[in-house]
Amino acid sequence: MEYSLIHNGTLIDGTGNSPINNAAILIRNNKIEAAGAEDSITLPQTKIRRIDARGGYLLPGFIDSHVHLMANGFRMEHTMYNPLSIFFYNAVSNMNLTINAGVTTVRDAGLADYGVKCAVEQGLILGPRMQISVAPLSITGGHFDFWLKSGFDMKISYPGHPDGVCDGKEGVLKKVREVLRSGADVVKIMATGGVMSANDQPEFSQFTIDELKVIIKEAQNRGIKSMAHAHGVDGIKKAVKAGISSIEHGTYLDKEAIGMIKERDVYLVPTLLVQKINKIHAEEGTIPDYMIDDAIRIVDIHHENMKKAYKAGVTMAMGTDCGVIGHGVNLQELGLLCEIGMKPMEAIMAGTKVSAQLMGLQDIIGTIEPGKLADIIICKTDPISDIGSLGNSENIEVVIKDGELLKDICAV
Ligand SMILES: [Zn+2]
Repeated sequence: MEYSLIHNGTLIDGTGNSPINNAAILIRNNKIEAAGAEDSITLPQTKIRRIDARGGYLLPGFIDSHVHLMANGFRMEHTMYNPLSIFFYNAVSNMNLTINAGVTTVRDAGLADYGVKCAVEQGLILGPRMQISVAPLSITGGHFDFWLKSGFDMKISYPGHPDGVCDGKEGVLKKVREVLRSGADVVKIMATGGVMSANDQPEFSQFTIDELKVIIKEAQNRGIKSMAHAHGVDGIKKAVKAGISSIEHGTYLDKEAIGMIKERDVYLVPTLLVQKINKIHAEEGTIPDYMIDDAIRIVDIHHENMKKAYKAGVTMAMGTDCGVIGHGVNLQELGLLCEIGMKPMEAIMAGTKVSAQLMGLQDIIGTIEPGKLADIIICKTDPISDIGSLGNSENIEVVIKDGELLKDICAV
């Protein structure tokens, strides 16, 4: 039995409770045994490893509900020029950056396969705990069909990663079963067009409601949730009606869609960071031509609609779409959540407790409470007075995942 005590810090436990000064966290093996004011914690009469927070802020390891660990920009030419193995080698560095940023759990919204997850679980490579979706489902000619008008098919598929293109009730049923067979923890559905794809526009819906129902029901039969990439309002409404667990992006939400989302307890993952960075890249001309119009057109609309959704009381989890943009900037999303109206404490909860609920992991991670896994970070700046400071990974001094110290910039 091994005990650790993190002490000399301010505790922000992710539950929304006020910060506790002079706090400590007692960890036994990989679990939190006690957390609170240091003088309230009874220490066991045994050897304890001490981690001095040096006046920093103790927070739960963050959860990014929308990343692509295997992607570095999603450019079609990468598929042409890179051998398949390069994507895996890149993922090693992407996961390192993610951990360094203070993110200990992610929901991968497409491309990471079961082998990537296993490699982290087996300790072969450093990385966050993950739920994977493997291959997003897309209609023929939809957001994840990489068949170009030229006649070239740019998709990557291999035995552990089925081709996700499917149509019709029978076709989508077979495909969702294939994706589940390949180890998906969550089913990702492309419900509308997108910014990154050459053949469609974000406004228009893709799967029919009947197809969506078949996919979502089949996943539910195995206790698995579904997440929908959805920009256009028609696609958002169809996905919500069909029983989706979360709407990703949500750009063209209207009042009716907001009402439906609230009524059915659907989560919204706004992914503000990708919109912001895509727009900057579009203005600089550093993204492909086919993306530029979409990227510029949607950003302000998205921002306004996210404000409305927040104001209306929609439950929002933190997700960034890192992979479309660079890795390791995940917590910059928190500052953007505050720009749409959240208080810093709410933004922290969106990236911890709420994201854990979205992933169905609320009993094991998301807050610093006795019995939960020891996923803990130490930030040297006060995130309540400066939420933006969490977005700089240099401020994240310590990262502990499952009781294991993965980053300690003070260690010699
Ligand atoms: Zn995405």
